Amino acid sequence: MNKVDKFYEVKNLLQCPICGKKIRFHAGGLVCKKEHRFDISAKGYVNFLQSSKPLKGYDRDFFESRHRFFRGCYYDHISDAVISAALGHSPLEVVMDAGCGEGFYAARLCGQTDAQILAFDIATEAIKVAARNPAPVKWLASDITNIPVKDGMVDCILDVFTPANYGEFIRVLNEDGIVIKVVPGEHHLQELREAAKNQIRNREYSNDDVLEYFADHFEVVSSELASKTMLIEGDALADLIRMTPLLFDVDKTAVDTSRIREITVEGQVLVGRKK
Ligand SMILES: [Zn+2]
Repeated sequence: MNKVDKFYEVKNLLQCPICGKKIRFHAGGLVCKKEHRFDISAKGYVNFLQSSKPLKGYDRDFFESRHRFFRGCYYDHISDAVISAALGHSPLEVVMDAGCGEGFYAARLCGQTDAQILAFDIATEAIKVAARNPAPVKWLASDITNIPVKDGMVDCILDVFTPANYGEFIRVLNEDGIVIKVVPGEHHLQELREAAKNQIRNREYSNDDVLEYFADHFEVVSSELASKTMLIEGDALADLIRMTPLLFDVDKTAVDTSRIREITVEGQVLVGRKK
């Protein structure tokens, strides 16, 4: 299937983010009943954003670095935990990856399920990198506060190391739907935080508030720590330094990373059911 026609399969799941009306597939684009039109790029994504201002730090270089770094297997154990939680849910017909970045988790899940996968991010640069992947994921540039998906259509939402919008998540989830949320663990990237400790304000990371907020909105069915410490060097370390939001406001040249030999990637994987 080509990169435009694949959207035909999901047109019935979508709604117009401007007026909320149904969307149809017409002449290689998506059009709502009020004639709001969203072009499907030949590159394989749809832009639902009304305006697009680049987000500080989240540029092409950031997502290319992230793409390369993820290929280095450093996040595979996180992805394995997410995929196993998703595949454990039944039925699994529609999955939505919210804030998918350059698409690592959605593309990997796509290889293991026949479910339709919608994956979106507000950063069009991320979606452009994601859409290079041949997996038939439906990539969307979209705002998480106004997701172009109809009510009650989604079986499973992925929200991995990225902010959530629980009002929208609850709206698009069906009655038995689940959210798989990953938040950084206490030791996540601790070697890098140690190296930059003089420049980082929140040295002690705590996700208590995030966990509490999640439990306010969903019935927590499981919570599992996925943690691994791996050797790291050279280009991979340089990519990590470019891709981590941890160092966005830090003068990277003043951070001595020369003693870093290994890196810990740790996430708390939460599964919550719609209440
Ligand atoms: Zn419309």
